[in-house]
Amino acid sequence: MSDRILDFLRRRKSDGPCVVVDLDIVRENYAAFAGALPDTSVFYAAKANPAPEILNLLAELGSSFDCASVGEIEMVLATGADASRISYGNTIKKERDIARAYALGVRLFAVDSVEEVEKIARAAAGARVFCRVLCDGVGAEWPLSRKFGCEPAMASDVLEHAHRLGLEAYGVSFHVGSQQANLGAWDLALAMAADVFGEMSRRGIELKMVNMGGGFPTRYLKDVPGVPSYGEAIFQSLTRHFGNRLPATIIEPGRGMVGNAGVIEAEVVLISRKSAEDPIRWVYLDIGKFHGLAETMDEAIRYPIRTPKDGDQTAPCVLAGPTCDSVDVLYEKTPYELPLSLAIGDKVLIEACGAYTTTYSTVGFNGFAPLASHVI
Ligand SMILES: *Cc1c(COP(=O)(O)O)cnc(C)c1O
Repeated sequence: MSDRILDFLRRRKSDGPCVVVDLDIVRENYAAFAGALPDTSVFYAAKANPAPEILNLLAELGSSFDCASVGEIEMVLATGADASRISYGNTIKKERDIARAYALGVRLFAVDSVEEVEKIARAAAGARVFCRVLCDGVGAEWPLSRKFGCEPAMASDVLEHAHRLGLEAYGVSFHVGSQQANLGAWDLALAMAADVFGEMSRRGIELKMVNMGGGFPTRYLKDVPGVPSYGEAIFQSLTRHFGNRLPATIIEPGRGMVGNAGVIEAEVVLISRKSAEDPIRWVYLDIGKFHGLAETMDEAIRYPIRTPKDGDQTAPCVLAGPTCDSVDVLYEKTPYELPLSLAIGDKVLIEACGAYTTTYSTVGFNGFAPLASHVI
């Protein structure tokens, strides 16, 4: 929580919940990633928070960008960054969007199937492609399931197909799952990547790049290892699996770049109980799953919450949002400890909300405005 954010909130006139992002913290995070892995290129995953001020700052600092759509590519190009600093990292793209990205200058594309390779060969002749391999996401608080990536054995066929169609079979990518607190996750994935490099080499194709994805955590309620620990672990794994022939490498931090830079201010709308004897209070905020806190789905991400009554005696609460949808409950299976003295009208600060909040907000479900965002 930065003093700049607290200052801004103190002086703020407007009503309603908002997120405030401190660019100084984003700058520190970028420096931490760039410093922890000095030979690795940083591609900020724009989806985590595509606010123009954040993209502008990162472009100025020398970051590259991982984009998932033509819309994100255009947002990055609006910073003045060259298209050579963009990776179209979504493995699921319309052919006409590939063509549009190519026309905008993008030359680096993710694939995880021969079907996608064929689209790229038609719409982006000669481009570089990397194949995403499946990762089980064990240890991640927001795992990515089997939606993206293919088995490593298939990756070699996908890349060979790309090579045959005149594309540059450039490398391998993986994502170990978001909010990944297990440093060893990258080791398993890098072992897989090295296997694909070996198999491709036997087929006469030398891959050049490993895209090590995102997954770097933000501190919520539990401590997480710092960026330097990730850098060390990853560098050791790279050396273990690739020896002294290290490939070019990329990381794509999203959450780790902006998560801790943002704070949401919200207001307590109601505190009530379901019966006179009910020990559990229900605390309803003016923000919930539909206006920025979507990652509380399945209670996956537990945000630190500060109240003006911190230090007073606490008791467990169910925490919920203000809308008329019954899924708009943030924490119920594991209730949240809040002060007994917390009162209707109190403002609360929800920390580490810089990532995956603004763009996850609905455009106006139930007539509540989308999450307001201030970048300072
Ligand atoms: C979402 C995403 C990221 C960022 O993930 P974080 O866990 O937020 O760091 C990186 N790469 C790809 C391909 C993604 O889809």
